[in-house]
Amino acid sequence: APYQVVDVHELLDATLVMFKGKIAAGVRLVREYDRDLPSIPAYAAELNQVWSNLIDNALGAIGGDGVLTVRTLRQDDWLIVEIADTGPGIPDEIRPRIFEPFFTTKPVGEGTGLGLDISYRIVVNKHHGDIRVTSTPGSTVFRVLLPISPPEP
Ligand code: ADP
Ligand code: MG
Repeated sequence: APYQVVDVHELLDATLVMFKGKIAAGVRLVREYDRDLPSIPAYAAELNQVWSNLIDNALGAIGGDGVLTVRTLRQDDWLIVEIADTGPGIPDEIRPRIFEPFFTTKPVGEGTGLGLDISYRIVVNKHHGDIRVTSTPGSTVFRVLLPISPPEP
């Protein structure tokens, strides 16, 4: 997949369009985009896979009713994308394991347990970024940090 200069908002919107039919009637989608953010060099298709994994998890966590928030912001030399949900949260006991390959709490056939493993590798290994998670009952936020000026690939 090509390495190219991308507008993350275009990528996020393209991914959200694909989820249109999967967003339940009781789910409100809130987009808070910082339109002043620069475009950045990145692997567009891979980043879309990350948004897709995080949004799929968020919608699964919300279930019927709640809010999915997609936010962008800048901090120093990082472009940050936050995917937040109002689902039950991630229990402390499983929090250290969620990025492990094949770790899932979903019923057999519903989750592969690969979404976060793959997302982590795309963000950290391929983009020199980071993924962090903050979760309390009723609120989970995944933060993807991408360097605005990454080293040459
Ligand atoms: P899968 O979605 O196939 O289970 P993932 O790697 O995407 O695999 O996620 C691993 C596990 O992390 C999930 O099964 C779930 O227990 C937990 N998890 C991930 N995202 C969330 C979220 N937004 N809210 C609550 N739990 C989550
Ligand atoms: Mg998943």
